[in-house]
Order: sequence, then C-alpha cells, then structure tokens
Amino acid sequence: MRRMPQTVPAPTIEPFALGPFMTNCYLVHAGKGSDAWIVDAGFEPAPLLSKARSLGVRVRAILLTHAHVDHIAGLNEARAAFPDAPILIHAEEERWLNDPELNLSAGHGFPITAPPADALLKDGETLEINGSLWRVLHTPGHSPGGVTFHCPGAGVALVGDTLFNGSVGRFDFPTSDERALVRSIKETLYTLPDATRVLPGHGPATTIGREKTSNPFVRAEPAR
Ligand SMILES: [Zn+2]
Ligand SMILES: [Zn+2]
Repeated sequence: MRRMPQTVPAPTIEPFALGPFMTNCYLVHAGKGSDAWIVDAGFEPAPLLSKARSLGVRVRAILLTHAHVDHIAGLNEARAAFPDAPILIHAEEERWLNDPELNLSAGHGFPITAPPADALLKDGETLEINGSLWRVLHTPGHSPGGVTFHCPGAGVALVGDTLFNGSVGRFDFPTSDERALVRSIKETLYTLPDATRVLPGHGPATTIGREKTSNPFVRAEPAR
C-alpha cells in the first residue's frame, strides 16, 4: 500500500513579551499534552512557564537564539519548572551563560549566570517537534552565536535579535559585527520565502518580503 504523505498540524507559536526589555520568548507546542519548546527565557518568565504548565506540555528543550541577558535571565526559573528540559545554544555563546560580562548582565549592574548548556546547536541541523521540522540557521552579527529557527512547513522563522520589524539588531556591542549582521540578513534571512513570518526577539512580527523591500537598514539587492 502506498504511504500517504503525512500532514503535520501547524505548530502553535505563542509569544510572551517578558520583563523590562519586553523580550519576545516563545512557547512552541501542538496543544494540550503535546511536546513543547521554550525559545528564549527572558526576565520574569512566569507567564510563559504557567502557560506551559496549564497546557500540560512536555518541554523537550529550551532553545536559545543567543545569550544576551534579556534572553537568558529566566533560564534558572525555566529549568526549575522543567528540570528535564535540555538547554541548547550555539557553541560560540556557550560560555556566555556563565559570564556576566559577555551576556551583558554585568553592564546592567546585576550579574546573571544561567545553567550550562546541555547540547550545542549547529548551522544547518534539523530539529523536530510534534512532527514539525525546524532548521537551525547560524545568523551571527548582533552576537557571534546568534541563530534563527526556521520552520519551512509552517513558513515561520524565530530570528532572535538579528532582524526586527523595520529595524535590525544592535551591532555596537564589543562582541557584535556589523558586516556579519548584514551578511546574515542578506544572505541567510532574505533568501527565505517572502511569505515567511518573522518572529523577532523584540517588537511586532513581520515578513521576509516586507523587510526586503522596506527595511531602512538592510534592503535586498535589487534584481539585475
Ligand atoms: Zn540581543
Ligand atoms: Zn534582546
């Protein structure tokens, strides 16, 4: 008998704007009792954690777009709530979890360290949750280990602080690299389908097509 193509329900991606920096952290799941990911854990993560608890989801991983303090300050609480969930981050920022200078918390006057990573994310690797496949794209520049989580099936990309609605990530930190940021946006993010929904680390969602034509910092190269 021929195998029918499996239809995978679109993942639910719930945003929570957490803490004083209004960091968009995401709960990715497929409804009550499903598996789930937490993507970034900012300050004051209680609303996200209690939603995960009330859904009764199994948190399979805590994925980090990068390790700036506003994306990791809630990791201790998240880990306490879901002790079995491994923390995944790109190798270039593994050390940052334990280094308040690098994760910028020292500069804000309240040094923060987080639990260590359990596994490292690699450019091009595929992650799976509830049947949905997500690609890890290394998008450095705002920070050296910044990654994007792209789900082609759902047409959505969690881009961290690389690209925003009408803006781009800061590149004035000592660990930032403006040229790498522009390259990540032009050569990686802008090659995703125009309809791809972009869910950034701060502020409202956008699409790749919209940013390609109207982003004041990085426009797509005109076709020639
Ligand atoms: Zn950042
Ligand atoms: Zn941020």
